[in-house]
Amino acid sequence: MRCMVLNASYEFLTIQEHWIDALTLVFQGKATPLSSYDDVVRSASASFRLPAVLVMRHQVSTRRKRKLFDTPSRRAVLIRDAFRCQYCDARLTMATGTRDHVIPRCKGGSDVLTNVVAACKTCNGRKADLTPEQAGMTLRNQPRRLSEEEKIQCLLKTVRSKERLAWMACLKDHGIALWAA
Ligand SMILES: [Zn+2]
Repeated sequence: MRCMVLNASYEFLTIQEHWIDALTLVFQGKATPLSSYDDVVRSASASFRLPAVLVMRHQVSTRRKRKLFDTPSRRAVLIRDAFRCQYCDARLTMATGTRDHVIPRCKGGSDVLTNVVAACKTCNGRKADLTPEQAGMTLRNQPRRLSEEEKIQCLLKTVRSKERLAWMACLKDHGIALWAA
């Protein structure tokens, strides 16, 4: 079971891949569990539940900015748009999906999540440097920022459902937004 680690400010810090590292942070007094899995490890004299979400006691300085979840990377856009072309609804993959700027960059459109959608190569080519109206194409969904669950998906290539449920429940219970704007 992997463990999500939040900074003392409750901002996302990192993921601990191995439960022993997460538990070590607790034993060393460096972090406090906010939520634990039902899984238990036993030593000769005691048993411990594996932490699902930890919060650091002291703020850890990190050079990472909030960019990770604000950048309209292909991965983020495809995850948000459920791997569907936002014009023709075609199924997309990491390999076939492209990013389309709704308001084209050459017309002043920004490279932000709220102006970028997932599109198949055909629709992207057809739309070219036009707005959807000019190209006679309709957006299936308005582009938006990422939800908390989508941010978690962006963090990890694979998230086991047990981890996802524990993390989402904990974030919700504590009113924590990952990198809230
Ligand atoms: Zn399409």
